[in-house]
Amino acid sequence: MPIASHKEGVLDHAYELKDRLTRIARADIDASDKQPGWKFNECEMQGIPLRVEVGPKDMEKGQVMLARRDTGEKQAVTLKALEQTITATLEDIQRTMYQKAKERLQEKTSHAHTIEDIEQFLSQENRLIKAMWCGDEACENDIKEKTGAASRCIPFEQEAVSDTCVCCGKPASDMVFWAKAY
Ligand SMILES: [Zn+2]
Repeated sequence: MPIASHKEGVLDHAYELKDRLTRIARADIDASDKQPGWKFNECEMQGIPLRVEVGPKDMEKGQVMLARRDTGEKQAVTLKALEQTITATLEDIQRTMYQKAKERLQEKTSHAHTIEDIEQFLSQENRLIKAMWCGDEACENDIKEKTGAASRCIPFEQEAVSDTCVCCGKPASDMVFWAKAY
């Protein structure tokens, strides 16, 4: 059957591509008989960031189709530019995801200057609070008692929300992330 042999040709080609791609990324192949649409959905659900599609027509043209999970963009790529494009696209996906996560965190973070600020911010959903702390455990306990917020971490990347401790008003030593303790 011509169709079968055609398909086998594509499959051999796909395995060659997989060998090439394994050198630059984690690559796997879906060689099942399922419909393309089904395979694409499966890919989505597994969270595969980049899908390489290859069919008889792509093979004739010496190209593959690249599909990004994060943006839904599809792009034809020549076999010559395969490794280079995939490496660049994976890097871009990484960068975009990191940026989005960072923005989400910033959106949820509030700067508190007083204990009242902390109380108010905590009444909003999923709040993370940045506030200055003097380093005294007594203040940490006081904040927890009054607001229900516990210190979550002292980030390496410090930022001066203010000069004084949110609790006692003495000079602050660290900027601390606070969040509700459950
Ligand atoms: Zn203090």
